[in-house]
Amino acid sequence: MSILTRTLPILALAAGTTFAAYAAPASVPAARPAAVASQPAPVKRIRKSDAEWKRLLTPEQYHVLREAGTETAFTGKYWNEHRRGVYVCAGCGLELFRSDDKFDSKTGWPSFTRAIVANHVMNREDTSLGETRTALQCARCGGHLGHLFDDGPPPTGLRFCINSAALTFVPGK
Ligand code: FE
Repeated sequence: MSILTRTLPILALAAGTTFAAYAAPASVPAARPAAVASQPAPVKRIRKSDAEWKRLLTPEQYHVLREAGTETAFTGKYWNEHRRGVYVCAGCGLELFRSDDKFDSKTGWPSFTRAIVANHVMNREDTSLGETRTALQCARCGGHLGHLFDDGPPPTGLRFCINSAALTFVPGK
């Protein structure tokens, strides 16, 4: 082993470079590309008792999120909200929707063409009004958000019809 071979790793370390990058033999496979990171991270479910939710939420938030209630159209905080930002779950703070995907549905409820990350919003069959609809839930706390319809604009053709009371808007994010 020459003096150069023995010295280079030390020089590499001193220069702040990765020793492994210098020392790894050619047969070691390269690190996997960042494409792996495009898979959404699994959402860890949180559960609280009804008493805890009642303590944490306003009566209106509790009614929508925990009792699958629906706020009256044109009465919520966000149907006419046009600022840029992110809408998070009012129950647990999970990021749910982005202002870029919000559109004016004329329904009086905040409406989006898609979730910020697909697995942050879950679908559930809802037959409560004598018809079959698709209810939407927060993937982390299970809170009821609203319903999904297939009459939305491009690019998805979907309308995520969401109660303002289920959301907290974080401007500028
Ligand atoms: Fe939540």
